[in-house]
Amino acid sequence: MTDTTADTQARSTGTGRNPAAPGGARTVASAVTDAVVARLVRGVTAGPDAEAVETLAPLTGERLAALPQSTPADVERAYRLARTAQQAWAAQPVRRRAAVLLRFHDLLLARQDEVLDLIQAETGKTRLHAFEEVLGAALAARHYGRKAPAYLRDRRRGGALPVLTHTLEARRPKGVVGQISPWNYPLELSVSDALPAFAAGNAVVNKPDTQTALTALWARELLVEAGLPADLWQIVIGDGPVVGPAVVEHADYVSFTGSTRTGRQVAQQAAGRLVGASLELGGKNALLVLADADLDRAAEGAVRACFSSAGQLCISIERLFVHRSVADAFLERFTARARALRLGGGLAYGADMGSLVSARQLETVTRHVEEAVKAGATVLTGGQARPDLGPLFYEPTVLDGVTTDMPVCTEETFGPVVSVYRFDTEDEAVAAANATPYGLNSSVWTKDTRRGRAVAARLHTGTVNVNEAYAAAYGSVASPMGGMGDSGLGRRHGSEGILRFTEAQTVATQRLMPIGPSHGLDDRQFAGLLTTGLKALKALRVR
Ligand code: NAD
Repeated sequence: MTDTTADTQARSTGTGRNPAAPGGARTVASAVTDAVVARLVRGVTAGPDAEAVETLAPLTGERLAALPQSTPADVERAYRLARTAQQAWAAQPVRRRAAVLLRFHDLLLARQDEVLDLIQAETGKTRLHAFEEVLGAALAARHYGRKAPAYLRDRRRGGALPVLTHTLEARRPKGVVGQISPWNYPLELSVSDALPAFAAGNAVVNKPDTQTALTALWARELLVEAGLPADLWQIVIGDGPVVGPAVVEHADYVSFTGSTRTGRQVAQQAAGRLVGASLELGGKNALLVLADADLDRAAEGAVRACFSSAGQLCISIERLFVHRSVADAFLERFTARARALRLGGGLAYGADMGSLVSARQLETVTRHVEEAVKAGATVLTGGQARPDLGPLFYEPTVLDGVTTDMPVCTEETFGPVVSVYRFDTEDEAVAAANATPYGLNSSVWTKDTRRGRAVAARLHTGTVNVNEAYAAAYGSVASPMGGMGDSGLGRRHGSEGILRFTEAQTVATQRLMPIGPSHGLDDRQFAGLLTTGLKALKALRVR
C-alpha cells in the first residue's frame, strides 16, 4: 500500500466549497477564492449572456469555478480584436517585444505561488509537479526573450548573380495564431508556445481546456502586466469539438497540443484551409535500462519518468525495457521506490504524487490495469484507486507480464501505470522500443554515455534523455522538442519553435544590370555569357 502525506487536507465530500480545513491548512477554496475566479474570468472573450460551465477541483471534487463559454461568434470577434492589435505589435522593434517576455519571466518567478495554487486546484497535481510548469515557462521566456532578435533578424543570402543581386531572407509574422491546448500542463502549454509567437510579432487566439482555463487566464493577465497589449492574447473557452474548429477556421497558423485523435482532425481542417500547423500529440514512451546502468540512479529516474504529474505528462514513460541480467536488481529498487511514494493533495510542497484530473482519466487507467490483469499480467505494486484520499487518486502501478495484445502495452494510458519488459540484446531493446506508431520521448540509462548517445540515434523519438527521465531534453529549450510519427508534426523550442510562427520572405534587390539580355547582348549572347558565368562560379566553389 502506498503511504499518504499528512497534507491531504484539501478534501471535501460535498459539492459545495470548503474554505476551512482542520489545523488551518490552506484549501482549494481558500486559495482560489470566488473573487480571484471572478477577476480571472473577465479575461474570457465571451458575450455578457454567455452560458457558464462549471469545473470541479480534482483533489476534492468540490466546485471550483463557473466559466463563461464562448460561441463561434465570440471566436470571430476574438480574431477581429487580435488582428487589429497585431498590426501595431508587429510594427514594434523585436527587441521591445522580447523585453515583454523578460519582464514576464521576473513577474512569474516572483508571483509563482499564485499560479501554483491555480495549477494544483485545476489539475490535482503536487506542488512540485506544478512548479515544473513555472520552470518550463520561465526557461522559454528567458530563451526567447534573449534570442528572439537573433532568430528573427534579416539574413544576407547569396544572390542570383554575385555582387549584382543583394538578397535578404526576412521573417514576417504569420498574423494571428490559433492555439489549442490541453489540461495536463496548463501554464507550460499555454505560455511556451504563445511567447515565441508574440516575440515573432503575432497575436494569439487561445482555447485552453475548460478544466484548466483559470491558469491560462492568470498567465495572460501576468503577460499584460509585463507589457503585452491586452487584445493581443485572446482566450476563448468552450466545448472542444465546437470552439476548437472555430479557432482553426480563422487562424493564420495553428499550434495544437493534445491527443493524436484530435490532432488528426485539426491537421485535416488546417490543410483544407492551406494554413500550417504544429501538432504536439500523444506518446507511448520507453525507458531502456542497459546492463551497465547505475541501478540506483536509474530506479530513481524511472520513478520520476513514470509518475510525475501522476503520469499525465505527454513525455512520461509507460514502457520500461530492462536488460535481463539486471532486471531483478533494478525492479527491486524501482518497485520499492514506487511503493514508497507519498500520495497527497495539499497545497504545499511535500507530496510525491497527486491526483488524476478527471473521471475519464480514472476510467482509462482502471480499465487498462484491469484488462491487463484479466489477461494474465501481474501487479508488482499499486493497481488500486484510492478514494480514501480523494475522488480521483490512483496508486503508482507497475505491471509485469504484459503482452502486446493488451491495450496497456500499445495505447497511451496517460496515468501512473508502467509495464516492464526484459531484453537480452540492445538490438532487441531498440526494436521493441520503436515498435509503436508514436515517437515522442525516450530515456536510456547506461554508465557509458557515448553508448547511450549511440542508442539514442537508433530510437525513433523526437527527444531522447540519456541518464535522465524527461526534464533534460524538455528543459533544453534552445533545442527543438516534438514528436515523430503519430506523436506530431513540427517542433516547439529552439529556432524551429519560433520560426514556425513566421513566413519566410526573400527580398532581392538587383543592381546595375537586369537578369536578362541587355547592354546590346542578344538572347544567344546572353545565354552564352551566363553559361560561362555558371561554369566559373562552380569552379570558384561559390555556393
Ligand atoms: P484532446 O485532444 O482531447 O484535447 C486537447 C484540446 O483540443 C482541448 O483544448 C480540447 O478542448 C480541444 N479539442 C477537442 N476536440 C477538438 C476538435 N475537434 N477540434 C479542435 N480542438 C479540439 O487531448 P487531452 O486528452 O485533453 O490531452 C491529453 C493528450 O494530449 C494526451 O494524448 C497527451 O499525450 C497529449 N499531450 C501532448 C503534448 C506534447 O507536447 N506532445 C503535451 C501535452 C499533452
